Amino acid sequence: MADFGYFSQKIGDSIDRILCESFEKRDYKMPKGRYISFCFDDFPKSAAELAAPMLESRGWRGTWYVAGGFLGKTEPHYGQMFDDGDLEKLKQNGHDFGCHTFDHIDCRDASPELIQAQCRKNMEFLTERGITDVASFAYPFGSVNLSAKRVMAPAAMALRGVKPGLNRGTVDLSMLKACGLQTDNGGIARAMSDLEALKRSDGWLIIFTHDIGPKPSPWGATQSDYSQILQAVEASDIEVVTVGDMVSRLREGAQTPTHAEAA
Ligand SMILES: [Zn+2]
Repeated sequence: MADFGYFSQKIGDSIDRILCESFEKRDYKMPKGRYISFCFDDFPKSAAELAAPMLESRGWRGTWYVAGGFLGKTEPHYGQMFDDGDLEKLKQNGHDFGCHTFDHIDCRDASPELIQAQCRKNMEFLTERGITDVASFAYPFGSVNLSAKRVMAPAAMALRGVKPGLNRGTVDLSMLKACGLQTDNGGIARAMSDLEALKRSDGWLIIFTHDIGPKPSPWGATQSDYSQILQAVEASDIEVVTVGDMVSRLREGAQTPTHAEAA
């Protein structure tokens, strides 16, 4: 017998996706050129210790989506999470920070009030640590529906989902595409193929991952895989930018911002 629960879930997901991509948009025109951003979500200590130096040694910086509730914790998949020392070091070294929900809640299951309270709490957490210049927010699990997008769209921050692909042409700052290195998303091969697409035409590729190490979680990457991406970028004419940098450029270059940001 057909699994109608599964089908209705799939249909529901598709409707959510179409609604999310069609409404509450903040459209900006991409400048000419090829750009890439490297992001770390949540974030595990291994990313700060192993990946940050790989970026820094090339003169690059990343964007770190902090969920304050993970501070000092040990997670089953990721191991040790960031601590205040990691945050301070990244800040000192000029990295960019993004916001997540404080307790990493799924925005699709949360009321508008709870999403707002979670963002507020996370921003307070960052502000207490001297991090005030936060230009973007990533939906935990990439999970978003129109209601959550509507709650977040008036925020000044750009919003990042997890739909893979290049941001090119006109981009929706309330639904930036991003390529995860997790295994269920094609892992490194997917990222390398997006990178090849970027070499062929202008756009902005956002790559995100979580832990880095010899035995990463399904949502992380090994050092050698990560290094493979960095080397490919290094050998290209792609410019590495933080998400914060690119958001500033989009806003500065905007002739006529639309919707919420026109006000
Ligand atoms: Zn996350």
